[in-house]
Amino acid sequence: MPSRALLALVLAALAAPFAPAQPVPERHSEVRLFVPDGAPVARPGLALAERLAAHGLVLDHARVEDTPHGLAFRTVLSETELAAARAADVEVEVLVEDVTAHYLATRRGTCEEGMGVSRIAADLCGPMGGYLTFDGVVAALDTLHARYPEVVSARASIGQGHEGRDLWMVEISDHPGVDEGEPEALYTGVHHAREPGSMMAVLYFMYYLAEQYETNPEVRDLVDERRLFFVPVVNPDGYVFNETTDPDGGGMWRKNLRDNGDGSFGVDVNRNYGYEWGYDDVGSSPLPGSETYRGPAPFSEPEIVALRDFLEGGRRVSMAFNYHTYSDLLLYPWGYTPDLQTPDDDVFAALGDTLTHVNGYTYGQGSITLYLTNGGAYDWMYGEQETKPKAFAFTVEVGYWFWPDPIDVYALADENLEANLLLARFAGAPPVAAEPPASPLPGPPLELTGPNPVRTRTGVAFTLAAPGPARLAVYDVLGREVAVLADGPRSAGRNEVAFDASGLAPGVYVLRLTAGGEAAVRRLTVAR
Ligand SMILES: [Zn+2]
Repeated sequence: MPSRALLALVLAALAAPFAPAQPVPERHSEVRLFVPDGAPVARPGLALAERLAAHGLVLDHARVEDTPHGLAFRTVLSETELAAARAADVEVEVLVEDVTAHYLATRRGTCEEGMGVSRIAADLCGPMGGYLTFDGVVAALDTLHARYPEVVSARASIGQGHEGRDLWMVEISDHPGVDEGEPEALYTGVHHAREPGSMMAVLYFMYYLAEQYETNPEVRDLVDERRLFFVPVVNPDGYVFNETTDPDGGGMWRKNLRDNGDGSFGVDVNRNYGYEWGYDDVGSSPLPGSETYRGPAPFSEPEIVALRDFLEGGRRVSMAFNYHTYSDLLLYPWGYTPDLQTPDDDVFAALGDTLTHVNGYTYGQGSITLYLTNGGAYDWMYGEQETKPKAFAFTVEVGYWFWPDPIDVYALADENLEANLLLARFAGAPPVAAEPPASPLPGPPLELTGPNPVRTRTGVAFTLAAPGPARLAVYDVLGREVAVLADGPRSAGRNEVAFDASGLAPGVYVLRLTAGGEAAVRRLTVAR
C-alpha cells in the first residue's frame, strides 16, 4: 500500500502544473450574418450555411431578415463562433454585444407578476430569471408526487450526465408504474441548457394534469387512458452550469459538460442521436469547440443513451414533444435533409396544423422551416422503428428568446397547454384516418359570427345558393361528432344558427357544413 500511496503522490505532483481544464462561459452576441453576394436566389441561406460550415460554424436559431443591406440571418453567436464567422469572410453586424447583460438590464417584471394568466394553482416561479433551478425542479417533482400520489409517480432516474446528475423521469397515469397497455406519450425539456422555458412548458403541463384530474373530465379521461412520461431536464449538468455562472438567469451555456480533451467542453446532445448522425457538417459540427458539436460517435453522450434506453426498454411511446426555445415553431422530421419527406408527411402536417391552432406557432418539416439538424431527437424518435415503435416526434420552439422577460414565464408555458393535451390524445389515436381539419374545403360560405375562441356561445352563418337540405355539425379533432347545429331543409341565402359550446371540453373543434353535394369546414377553439 505505501508504494501505491507514493505513486498517487507522484501522479498528483506530475498533474499539478496542469490544472484540470474547466468549461469557461463565453460572451454571446446577437448578430446579423449577411448572405454572400451571388448566392443562389432559391436557397440563399444554404450558401451562407455552407460557407460557415466550412469554418466549423453551424447556425442554430437563425431567422432570415430582409434588410436594407441585403438578406441576412439573425442569430446568436459565442465569441468562438463570431471569430469563425469572421474567418469565413462573412459580413457581420453586431446588434447586441452581450445578450446576457442586455437581458439583465432590460427586464420589465417578475415571474410572480405574470402569474395572472396561469391555469394552474401552483407557484413554479424560481430565482433564475423567474425559472426554477435544477434543485427547484426536483423539489417541484417531489411536491407534485406528494400531493397527487395516485396519478403522479415518484421521480425515477433514467441515467446521469457526465458529472453524475440524474435525468429524472416522472409518469402521470391512473396507475403510474403499472403497465395497463395504454398508449404512451413523452414530453422532454432542456436538451439545451440555456432553454429553461422548455422545462417550464413541461412542468406546467404536469401540474395542470394533476390539479385538474379530479374535476376536469377531459383531463381525467386522458390520464386514465394514457401513460404520460416526462423528462423536464434532459441536460442537468449544463443547466446547473448556467445556474452557477448566472444565478439571476441569462446564462448561455448550451451543451452538456463532456470534457472534449482539447480544452473545449460539451456536446450538443440534440445532435448526438443515432439516426443519420453526422449526415453532413451543415446540420451538426464535427468540431468540439462548436456549439453544435455532435460528439465523437452516435449515442456517445450519457444523456442521450438514457433516453434511447428508456424508449427501447419496452415503451410504446407514439407521440413526443421535445421542448426547446425559441422561435414559436413546431417542427417535425426530417431534420437532416430538406430533399426528402417522411412517408408520414401528410400525418405530420395534419398534426402540425391541429397542434398549433391555439398558439399559432408555425409548423413544418424542420429542415425546410428552420435549418438543417442531424442527430436530432425527432429524427431518431420517428426514424428508428425497429428497436422501438415509431413515434411522431416534434421539436417545439417556445417563445421569443432563450431567457424571456420573467413576466412572460407563465404565459409562454400556458400557450402550449392545448397542444400538450392534444398530443396526449393523439397518442391513442393518431389522426391517420381522421379527416385532416386543415384548410377549408371549397363549398358554400361558412363563417363564425361570434367569438372564436368560444367561451360559452357563438354564432355560425352559412349561405346556400339554393334551398335544400343542409347539415351543420361540430366534430372534435378525432372526427367524433359532438354537436349538430342544423339538419334539415333550409332556405336559399344566409342562414344563421347559435352554437352553445358550454358543454364541450376546451380544445380545437371542426365545423362541417354539407349542402347541395358540397362541404365546407371551419375550425374553432373552445376555451375557458
Ligand atoms: Zn434547443
